[in-house]
Amino acid sequence: MKFPTFTRCQFCGAIPAEGEKLSRTHIWPKWLNTTLEHHPSCDVECIDRPDFSKITKTRKTRHQDIFTIQPRIACIQCNGGWMNNIEQGVLDFLKPIISNDWPQFLTPEQIRKLSLWLALICMNAELASPLYNTITQADRDYIRNKEDLPRGWSIIVAKNHGSYWRKRRGYHNYPALPLSINRRLSGTVDNPTYDKQITTFGIGPLFAQVVSGQDFNFVAHHFFAAQKFGFGILFPRHDSSPLDTTQLHNLSDHQINDLNSQIPWFLHV
Ligand SMILES: [Zn+2]
Repeated sequence: MKFPTFTRCQFCGAIPAEGEKLSRTHIWPKWLNTTLEHHPSCDVECIDRPDFSKITKTRKTRHQDIFTIQPRIACIQCNGGWMNNIEQGVLDFLKPIISNDWPQFLTPEQIRKLSLWLALICMNAELASPLYNTITQADRDYIRNKEDLPRGWSIIVAKNHGSYWRKRRGYHNYPALPLSINRRLSGTVDNPTYDKQITTFGIGPLFAQVVSGQDFNFVAHHFFAAQKFGFGILFPRHDSSPLDTTQLHNLSDHQINDLNSQIPWFLHV
């Protein structure tokens, strides 16, 4: 797997001193690999969609071990500082969840931390992928400076009852989506532009889906559909109530596949 080579930190912009390099950045935390059942096949499927009306036309599967790759994305200060804080910040409540020992409530602070953790995985995974860049520098600046997420993100959770996604330690970078999906602006069949992404996670018993993009309307569709169907909303939160995990849906493989179908599920509800 060939990574793009960055000369400066993709978060703070720092340039490494002469003779030094950016630090190796884990996309998927090491502890998860040991916690979850090992599975040798970790295909990350990218569905390339130059033309939304012909979604099945091109589809490629890359074998990319998202679970162990460590591209040089960030400087030592970012990697060992705020990024590490985000990774460490979820351990005490995420480890039990991954072991299917859910706390009854996620506190507002835990909700915020889990949102940041999922968003950061999406950011790093996208930087490691030579295909698309839908997440902007402004988004990365925001998470670094404010330890929060800006507008244009929607993050939902449920429980994963099935086995397929679990076994795969499912991380599924479902495609970057062209501008033309929801509004007919720029982007042609020959030269599409991508401005939004959907990433679906099945991390053991935890299902999560992260939608982001500059198309706020598209992202809002995800949020409202998720709310309507009773998903746990991690972001955006409009009040400071805890999230009752006993109320979360218990999704089957079939349902998760539907939520990850080629046509975004929330555009049709
Ligand atoms: Zn940095």
